[in-house]
Amino acid sequence: MPFSEDFLEELSRRNDIVDVVSGYVPLTKRSGANMFGLCPFHGEKTPSFSVNADKQIYHCFGCGKGGSVINFIMEIENLSFPDAVQFLARRAGMEVPEDTQDVNRGRRTRMLDLNREAARFFHARLMEDAGRAGQAYVDRRGIRSMVKPFGMGFAPDSWQSLTDAMTAKGYTRQELVDAGLCRVGKSGGLYDYFRNRLMFPVIDVRGNVIGFSGRILDDGEPKYLNSPDTLVYSKSHSLFALNLAKKSKSGYILLAEGNIDVVSLHQAGFDSAVASLGTSLTADQARLLARYTSQVIIAYDNDAAGQKAAQRAIGILQPLDLRINVVKIPGAKDPDEFIQANGPQAFRNLIERSGNQVEYRLEQTAAEYALDTDAGRVGYLRAAAKLIASLPGSVEREIYGLRAAEKAGVSPEAFKLEVERVRKQNAAAARKQRDREASAPLRAVQPQSRELRFENVRSAVAEEGVLNLLCRFPEQFGAVPLTAADFTSPVLGGLYEAVTERLRQGRSVSLAALGQQFGPDELTLLAKILQHDEISAPAAQQAMGDYINKIRAERDRATRGQDLRGYAEKLKQTKGYGS
Ligand SMILES: [Zn+2]
Repeated sequence: MPFSEDFLEELSRRNDIVDVVSGYVPLTKRSGANMFGLCPFHGEKTPSFSVNADKQIYHCFGCGKGGSVINFIMEIENLSFPDAVQFLARRAGMEVPEDTQDVNRGRRTRMLDLNREAARFFHARLMEDAGRAGQAYVDRRGIRSMVKPFGMGFAPDSWQSLTDAMTAKGYTRQELVDAGLCRVGKSGGLYDYFRNRLMFPVIDVRGNVIGFSGRILDDGEPKYLNSPDTLVYSKSHSLFALNLAKKSKSGYILLAEGNIDVVSLHQAGFDSAVASLGTSLTADQARLLARYTSQVIIAYDNDAAGQKAAQRAIGILQPLDLRINVVKIPGAKDPDEFIQANGPQAFRNLIERSGNQVEYRLEQTAAEYALDTDAGRVGYLRAAAKLIASLPGSVEREIYGLRAAEKAGVSPEAFKLEVERVRKQNAAAARKQRDREASAPLRAVQPQSRELRFENVRSAVAEEGVLNLLCRFPEQFGAVPLTAADFTSPVLGGLYEAVTERLRQGRSVSLAALGQQFGPDELTLLAKILQHDEISAPAAQQAMGDYINKIRAERDRATRGQDLRGYAEKLKQTKGYGS
């Protein structure tokens, strides 16, 4: 194991989970030892994400995610366990023991170096005669002055040129393939993945070249070819041009559809444009955006696909407490075409007049109903009330409520009543969900991860109870008369073994320290188990006895069941009914 338990315990002591989580999630409500905020891992409007300072764990009653401070950083920063440890060590100003450095570190550095070399190679090709096709394309789009700031390049129409150049620089076959720059052909030789394409390096906010996106020069398919995910590149966690947009003084980030749109927008003076790469906007990309801005302006294509993508993006951005506007582009298919025809100032006007997401969605909703019929108006009223009920501010609800009421042709009072009805419904549903999970006695809930599903739920509930009491009141229990083999759930048995081993050594149970022995799924389960505190210290002995009896009873029932089935088989055979 790469890190010592002492080191991991010290690490989690110096990175208090409430402090760390607060840097990402405002914890606005308190209930007992738990602080609550809006879950960063799933969209929600009422807080069900809890952090417990005593136990140093987090747990979401909505999506079920949970674990230690290390798991939180793994999840939210998309890091491996060793990288999350490094991250927290840096945060706390701790030295990571030398010999436990991540083995991937070397490979990662090599890959970033290779990517940088490849970007230089592509850039040089664009500037010379061989890159004339690329230059012509750049000139046609009017983006020549953007070649340098974006580090744009050209992949020659050849099977070998990058392979040869990088091999000459000492990179191995394996490194070229791992970085997604080359592929292995049928004959076993390497060939260049990107050919005859305008190349855009994808650069992260630290300035590393992490991948590439290549645009075809004619109308061929695919329009964009993107690097596969690698050790240093994850498409769903990266945004094209965020390295440039983060320096913008505009106060907002402009979300466009493709790389060329982004480059054209920068060329026209909109230096805060970014795009997702080969995917529609993901929750991880939205979180990344939220770190750099408080306002996102969506400027997708004018077609049906673009509008649908915009609706989706709103849904993903909304939980992050960002101001969201949507630009409508009249008479052009995309921002670039509009700017070419009308100039940058006209586009700036569009941005300034862009409706916020509520107006945009009300408008889209209205378009779905025939408002000249009673049925259409009722349908619109219901849908609009649902939308407005989800707005957090009462002033916003008031203003948009008035507008929607007017549109539906009902009195503002009637509309307001409908909104309040939906809000009460939502609040009751959220409360019910939380209560069910938090304060009911331990009940049969299958773990989030399919691989961990319990076979005998009745026994598993008691097994969870044993773990809960052992971790919370270790001083009350000596040796518990159970072994891991008594557990029907292998994962609970494994956790039981690890926990009792720690207690035998006189250590406390720290999820952070268990983090390298168990995966995130197992720790999520343990965090969920520890979250329960309905059994108090004076009742713990009694409850432990009950759990042990339950586990034994279930085990006996299972063996008896087997015996009975065996007996029935025998009967059938002796009486000759068997088939
Ligand atoms: Zn959640």
